[in-house]
Amino acid sequence: MRKKLTTCANCEQKFAEDFQFCPYCGQKSNEDLTLSVLFYNTISNYFSVDARFF
Ligand SMILES: [Zn+2]
Repeated sequence: MRKKLTTCANCEQKFAEDFQFCPYCGQKSNEDLTLSVLFYNTISNYFSVDARFF
């Protein structure tokens, strides 16, 4: 059986999802962080689009 892989939200390396932290960069592996990163990206995209109007 293959282990499930997860993708680091920080460095985008794939690693087994039973790691608590990314073995490449040390980013903590959890969904709340991923959601907050997505939320942050949405907000920063919103502001970068919005900035073009000024
Ligand atoms: Zn990483």
